[in-house]
Amino acid sequence: RQEQYRKLRDLPCVTRDGVDVALHLNAGLMVDLPHLAETGAAGIGLFRTELQFMISERLPTMSEQIALYRSVLEAAGSRPVTFRTLDIGGDKVLPYMRQMEEENPALGWRAIRIGLDRPGLLRAQIRAMLKAAAGRPLKIMLPMVATVDEFTRAKDLVARERLHLDRHGYEPPSDLRLGVMVEVPSLLFQIEEIAARADFLSVGSNDLMQFLFAADRENPQMANRFDALHPACLRALRLVARAGEKAGIPVTLCGELGGRPLEAMALLALGYRSLSMSPASVGPIKAMLLSLEVARARETVDALIDDAGGLATIRPHLAEFAEKH
Ligand code: PEP
Ligand code: MG
Repeated sequence: RQEQYRKLRDLPCVTRDGVDVALHLNAGLMVDLPHLAETGAAGIGLFRTELQFMISERLPTMSEQIALYRSVLEAAGSRPVTFRTLDIGGDKVLPYMRQMEEENPALGWRAIRIGLDRPGLLRAQIRAMLKAAAGRPLKIMLPMVATVDEFTRAKDLVARERLHLDRHGYEPPSDLRLGVMVEVPSLLFQIEEIAARADFLSVGSNDLMQFLFAADRENPQMANRFDALHPACLRALRLVARAGEKAGIPVTLCGELGGRPLEAMALLALGYRSLSMSPASVGPIKAMLLSLEVARARETVDALIDDAGGLATIRPHLAEFAEKH
């Protein structure tokens, strides 16, 4: 099987009906970078910057942050990298940072909320990214954004940092894109406003599912209770894809969903053309898409979710479709 997947690596990533798809990797440390060449992935779709903070015994200094981001960009070469700003809090605790006891940490003081309340931390990180990407393209995305206003405030902060570097004579990135993770359901109801302001959207399906169904992603009892192929979830995902299309900005998905063949097939049917996943998933997903006719899948999936009739999942129908085609 591994051998088979390796053979697919150098084939163009195109569906049977000629739709180009980009498969990216989720990463968080330098040890993940060799997987780019091994899998033939198009780039790093999600670089979880909190990993460096979690394995460190104290807050990483600005120069340590710059060094890591620069090594990542260098190792990726011409392949694009999307850095996500710190996503701490919730299940990701930094032992050296004092945090309050929270009854519901997943719903608490975390990610961009900390970034906006402690702008020194976010500013240092943005500055480190901008400096590390001198003369190269840079993509940054913000986790756990719940309102347009949060995005706007973070965007202003990025603009100020950029200006600061210009004023001090640093070479800026050759291209800077600021995106937003769609993982808090409130964004679904502000999707056009956010798509008008962001350079790209990236669905964090792990958290989006958790919050959509109010089902703890860490609780094994909840693991199989709600299916990602439930029409409610697919409608949410379709809404995001369509908003991106309408606004003319790229939409990608970087949760675990994109790494499972049947789910990825549904995503392609809903209009996703870029997915980010763990390295081991690239082979199976590529094998799936090489044999897929997206147009046909789209008809099937649209029909199933428009007329869901109380279905708990479209999984069996989709499996049948996959079997037939
Ligand atoms: C997600 O929520 O889907 C995601 C990609 O981010 P994380 O798993 O790091 O929360
Ligand atoms: Mg998340």
